[in-house]
Amino acid sequence: MKFDTPQHQSGLIFSGTMGTKKVRILVGGQAFYISQEKLFHGPPSKLKQLVKSGDVDVERPADMFAAILAYYQTGELHMPMTSCPAAFIQEMEFWDIGQDRMTQCCANRLIKLFSI
Ligand SMILES: [Zn+2]
Repeated sequence: MKFDTPQHQSGLIFSGTMGTKKVRILVGGQAFYISQEKLFHGPPSKLKQLVKSGDVDVERPADMFAAILAYYQTGELHMPMTSCPAAFIQEMEFWDIGQDRMTQCCANRLIKLFSI
């Protein structure tokens, strides 16, 4: 990915190719990018609030954040196969995303895991 603005700049940036505004989010020291449109048209969460208030740089696990970001990219919230369900629920709580947002397939996985 190539951007007009320097890579170290946080907040809103411009894509070098499509001209779409992208938002840079730092989680656990890793940079994630999402188009402003996808983020702001997506469901409410702490992520949206943080981006609105400025640069986002939080110390949370990056691998689980990838699933949170995918929720905005695809409109579906799935739990990563590699993460502990309890840990993922904690991340959902941190980002202010209700458990009812989880897609049916992963909600079923959670119910199975917790009913043992
Ligand atoms: Zn799923």
